[in-house]
Amino acid sequence: MMNGKLAHDEPMLPADTLRGQVAFITGGGTGLGLEIASQFVKLGARVVLASRNAERLEAAAKDLGGSDVAIACPADVRNYPEVRNAVEIAVKRFGSLDILVNNAAGNFFCPTAELSPNGWRTVVDIDLNGTFHCCHAAYEFLKRSKDGGNIISIITMNALSGWPGAAHAAAAKAGILSLSRTLAVEWGPDNIRVNTISPGPIADTEGVRRLYEERARADLERRRVALGRFGSKRDVANAAVYLASPFANYVTGENLVVDGGRWLKFVTQ
Ligand code: NAP
Repeated sequence: MMNGKLAHDEPMLPADTLRGQVAFITGGGTGLGLEIASQFVKLGARVVLASRNAERLEAAAKDLGGSDVAIACPADVRNYPEVRNAVEIAVKRFGSLDILVNNAAGNFFCPTAELSPNGWRTVVDIDLNGTFHCCHAAYEFLKRSKDGGNIISIITMNALSGWPGAAHAAAAKAGILSLSRTLAVEWGPDNIRVNTISPGPIADTEGVRRLYEERARADLERRRVALGRFGSKRDVANAAVYLASPFANYVTGENLVVDGGRWLKFVTQ
């Protein structure tokens, strides 16, 4: 608290908001996934980090406070048996699975005419099929969550507008939006809420480095945002915290846009 004003990086909610909750976060060892994991832990949750690079996951779990609050579960989300196994390990270790964050993704810039079928398939496989695999494997446990299950998937508004140079990622993320809305209805009676978050360009992430900075488009991208700046990882984690918390108890099937007004500026100019 500074001069009676809440600073942007202070905890948004009471410290025990997520106490007793177990979150399975794909791609939880880096970037946005790691920031979401970190904020969940600060609010009392225990987290399971799942992705391919075991070493990076172990290091991240250790930084988050070690095996009492965070464990690494290596899995390739494209491989259903591996996902299933990771989910089972998580439940065995922490006793439940209450929140699933589908954050793992692959992306690279490539005009569609030059995109190989293999490149297309790989991105759709990680983003869309991986999200389906995780939702499917987690369902029976989310259904048993004492406070209701929660699925949050990280997409982008480029899924709706189309994304020249990244048709594979845009199509995959649009698929996730559709899947999420279907599951919100199918699994609503099981008290599972299903939402998506659409971040804009977020500073200090692999996504922005690869898609904008490496291609010398960072300034142009900043100008395309209504607020004129990149977001922070914390901005996205705050949205995930809200959706995972009881403060969003009646919110399902929603796509929470955290993009500094980029998509509106894009369509109005
Ligand atoms: P990132 O650090 O590269 O995160 C991607 C994560 O996915 C990595 O931890 C990676 O870990 C994991 N992953 C990749 N392939 C996988 C696979 N086959 N199986 C399991 N895990 C896999 O990127 P980020 O920028 O933080 O992006 C995180 C999410 O936000 C993505 O869904 C992205 O589309 C979305 N997003 C980002 C931005 C942005 O500005 N950064 C904007 C809009 C949306 P391993 O290498 O260990 O597998």
